[in-house]
Amino acid sequence: MAESSGEFALIDWIRRNSARQPQVETGIGDDAAVLRFDSGRTIVTADMLMDGVHFRLSESTPESVGRKCLAVNLSDVAAMAGQPTAAFLCLALPRTGGAPLAERLYDGMKPLAEQFNVEIAGGDTNIWDGPLVVSVTILGEPAGVEPILRSGAHPGDWLLVTGSLGGSLSGRHLTFTPRVQEAMALARSASLHAMIDLSDGLASDLRHILRESQVGALIDANTIPISDDVDPALSPAEQLHHALTDGEDFELLLTLSPEQGAALLQNPPVEARLTKIGTISAEQRCLMVDFDGETVELPSGGWEHRFGSTEPDDSPPSRGDTE
Ligand code: ADP
Ligand code: MG
Repeated sequence: MAESSGEFALIDWIRRNSARQPQVETGIGDDAAVLRFDSGRTIVTADMLMDGVHFRLSESTPESVGRKCLAVNLSDVAAMAGQPTAAFLCLALPRTGGAPLAERLYDGMKPLAEQFNVEIAGGDTNIWDGPLVVSVTILGEPAGVEPILRSGAHPGDWLLVTGSLGGSLSGRHLTFTPRVQEAMALARSASLHAMIDLSDGLASDLRHILRESQVGALIDANTIPISDDVDPALSPAEQLHHALTDGEDFELLLTLSPEQGAALLQNPPVEARLTKIGTISAEQRCLMVDFDGETVELPSGGWEHRFGSTEPDDSPPSRGDTE
């Protein structure tokens, strides 16, 4: 498509290329989309990613950026044990090269959309003199199980995590497969109490579950599954720090009763690695048994977007708000 052909040619092109889903009665081409969800409930999530903050077009291909923009949203739907249905794609395109860029973003998104039965059902397209900004909104529905919230953890619950953690920024953050299928399989085979996807890092995201559930946790440093992407030349403590705080793992962290947890580990319904990393406690503290067997306050960490301040900044370098 020629760059001069503009916004409407681009939208037509996306429309022609998007796989249809039965729940989408009206997709691209009208003022709004119309969806029909038989389950009667809708799961909605949105993420905005900005060039220079969440990705760098100077370092990544547009296809991999497009894929990531969809994948981080799918990970949020997964965290609710939901089935994604339709994605809405809002683009702020740079004036120069914006049209071919949009096509390549979309080319990167499409295989993932098809893999997870998601229709690109609408969006908005703007052109400006700033950098690329991509906002994706996904609608889905509960997949035959109650949505799993952050707020359901009980004292005594086991804490389980899928996959392995740390080092994602060396490449996995662009290529990960969101745990949509795993989340549904886990939620169907056990009564999950709470779940979150790990976008900011275990140390940070675990605290979201604890705060919403008004509980605490004790995790065991020796059990944290560390990804092969973490430099093996580092000390065990440094490797652990990466696993706890790097972020962008997009794995699932979940809690469930010890009985259900033991059954799940005995007979896992997913191929992904599943590891018990600790337990939920009544006392609202976040503790870790370290490599020396000592119980310490879990170092906080992970990423948090901070507003500008005139105070000297002792916070970790911001890479922007996360998924
Ligand atoms: P309106 O001016 O009524 O908001 P638009 O011209 O913005 O309509 O959009 C026309 C149609 O194209 C709508 O169905 C909208 O959802 C869709 N659309 C616009 N931009 C995108 C995009 N980047 N990706 C997918 N669909 C888009
Ligand atoms: Mg519009």
